[in-house]
Amino acid sequence: MTTLEQPLVKAVGAKAAKKLAALDLETAGDLLRHYPRRYAQRGELTDLDSLAEGEYVTVLAEVQKVQGRKISKRPGNLLEVTVTDGRGLLTLTFFGKGAYVPERELPPGTHGLFAGKVTFFGSGRNAKRQLVHPEYKPLAGGDLAGAAREFAEELIPVYPAAKGVTSWQIADCVRILLDTAELGDDALPEHVRRRHRLIGLADAYRGIHRPRDMAEAGRARKRLKWDEAFVLQTALAQRRRAAAELAATPRPPAAEGLLAAFDERLPFELTEGQRAVGDEIAADLARTHPMHRLLQGDVGAGKTVVGLRAMLQVVDSGGQAALLAPTEVLAQQHHRSIVAMLGPLAQAGQLGGAEHATRVALLTGSQGAKARREALLDAASGAAGIVVGTHALLQEHVQFADLGLVVIDEQHRFGVEQRDALREKATGGRPHVLVMTATPIPRTVAMTVYGDLDTSALTQLPAGRSPIATHVVPSANRAYWNRAWERIREEAAQGRQAYVVCPRIGDEEAPAPEDVPEEDGEDARRPPLAVLDVAPKLSEGPLHGLRIDVLHGRMHPDEKDAVMRRFAAGELDVLVATTVIEVGVDVPNATVMVVMDADRFGVSQLHQLRGRVGRGRHAGLCLLVTDAVEESKARERLDAVASTLDGFALSRIDLEQRREGDVLGESQSGRRSSLRLLTLLRDEEIIKEARAEATTLVEDDPELRGHPALAAELAALVDEERAEYLEKT
Ligand code: ADP
Ligand code: MG
Repeated sequence: MTTLEQPLVKAVGAKAAKKLAALDLETAGDLLRHYPRRYAQRGELTDLDSLAEGEYVTVLAEVQKVQGRKISKRPGNLLEVTVTDGRGLLTLTFFGKGAYVPERELPPGTHGLFAGKVTFFGSGRNAKRQLVHPEYKPLAGGDLAGAAREFAEELIPVYPAAKGVTSWQIADCVRILLDTAELGDDALPEHVRRRHRLIGLADAYRGIHRPRDMAEAGRARKRLKWDEAFVLQTALAQRRRAAAELAATPRPPAAEGLLAAFDERLPFELTEGQRAVGDEIAADLARTHPMHRLLQGDVGAGKTVVGLRAMLQVVDSGGQAALLAPTEVLAQQHHRSIVAMLGPLAQAGQLGGAEHATRVALLTGSQGAKARREALLDAASGAAGIVVGTHALLQEHVQFADLGLVVIDEQHRFGVEQRDALREKATGGRPHVLVMTATPIPRTVAMTVYGDLDTSALTQLPAGRSPIATHVVPSANRAYWNRAWERIREEAAQGRQAYVVCPRIGDEEAPAPEDVPEEDGEDARRPPLAVLDVAPKLSEGPLHGLRIDVLHGRMHPDEKDAVMRRFAAGELDVLVATTVIEVGVDVPNATVMVVMDADRFGVSQLHQLRGRVGRGRHAGLCLLVTDAVEESKARERLDAVASTLDGFALSRIDLEQRREGDVLGESQSGRRSSLRLLTLLRDEEIIKEARAEATTLVEDDPELRGHPALAAELAALVDEERAEYLEKT
């Protein structure tokens, strides 16, 4: 018997195992969980017109015509086999001495499977699709005598294949496993299976790989999706339970102190949402178990104030709070705005410092030695009630006197492990953790990615916020394009400011690949516009006479900070920048944003970017400049951004266009392999039910003593994650 952990060499032989390794399949279990992408129906031919250039395809088609030719300058023959789905045609090209083999094996009328990479030859309307030297497998007709046994079924599984290994070779190997593999105990408890009418594991594997009909394949998929959801939700339930058992120092609100003094000073009324979430957090902080809360709120919803008020409560009770930002620019800005908001309340030990005052320290990766030493000392001595920083805060040697709360801004850049690393920093009990994110996440995704957190949301924007108008500007249209720069001049004339965002910095030899989202298959595009090219062109051309400067990630942090300060102080009219301004940069006087090559950005990213304007009294304007043609996919995405300000709707569009691995984020990529069938956006029902079942199960049996098979799956999942984490550090 073959166990699922067994390497494929043993299970299916060295030759096949070597081929399967090209698909990252190493063990018998890997192969069993390499599921068909779809099923070809016997007699139902593949729609050949749907084949896209460059795609690696497996098609079911009928041979229409076979034509051999002798080519003069080459040895041997050229064989062209034309196959059809009844309408469209596909040319299979074979050359060389061996071309007589397909000639013999593929007489007209043969139905067969053909696999290879789609290329086009010829041009315009006459362009023909072809597969050069495809792999093929003739299928027997109605009479099955002599037919390959594996194609006796009605449905033919089509696997994600790769060069060198065909769908039917994979099918052959899977067949061996289905006959020989020992699946072990079912990890899904019987009562769960019964309650949700799920089929057994062996039936599910057989049903997904070799279904007799689509209904059977459907039952198999449902069952296997459940496995994925359930194991993950059990892991999260255990995490939540473990967290709930940890001790934390309670940090109850004080009747008077910093927080009360701060609220007195606030120049605006808190929104109802800010108040409600604030109460939730205040109550969490007073508990003897650590808070783990996710605060969602669209760009500009006012999360910072909520986070700051939580920090002040902790300082009031004698503890410290750390605020983590994803970039230095943001850390600096948070530091600056917190100091400004607190005023005398942040001036402990200084002349003019208020009664309950504390200090706010800034710690970043690249600050000067002296500033850094001071900040480290303030953190370690407890003199700084609030420490603001970037990932640098995670480094081992940063010590806190009494870390009571960690606030993480813009969570999508932080992973689970980093959250854990920070929690370890607290002495005597875990700190409370508040994660703030401006990328609204659909509920099921939140349940999975942030499944170990409680969630709250700020759903309204503060009153008096001006609307942002967004327009797509085709760069081919000079009139529109000029109008964009005119608008900036008009705003500047009124004393307001503008951003011009470019996808690239421009000091690099070649565009950094991560700056250019791969999509639409347009490889040979020009490099995206760059900050360092665009800025001088604007200041010499359409924006001549305005005060322009640049901001990008490769500037020295001090320089970045200086530019941001000048922009915030109104000493610059236009900031030409990369996405360093994407998150959190807050200059209420900025009213226009022009995004160059807007199609090179993701949907959520554009939404984040546009949140930088219209933050003050004046209406915001966002212009998305693009050369993407109308009705292209890229253009559709931009139109979507222009059509709504609902970050939630946009994040859905964004997520739908990405692979799940990306949804889960880098740190969870280890889970990618555990989510094959389950899609976070579409399988809401299963995820919800699995979460409920998993929670109950973990409550009744926290150690999973009664569920050894499930415990083993979880251990494998955790191992995988740990391995990933170690690799990265
Ligand atoms: P985000 O949720 O994007 O982090 P911020 O916390 O940066 O939003 O808030 C955006 C702006 O709104 C800031 O200038 C902040 O001072 C202001 N603000 C926050 N809460 C309110 C409120 N209740 N009323 C008016 N302005 C507010
Ligand atoms: Mg913010």
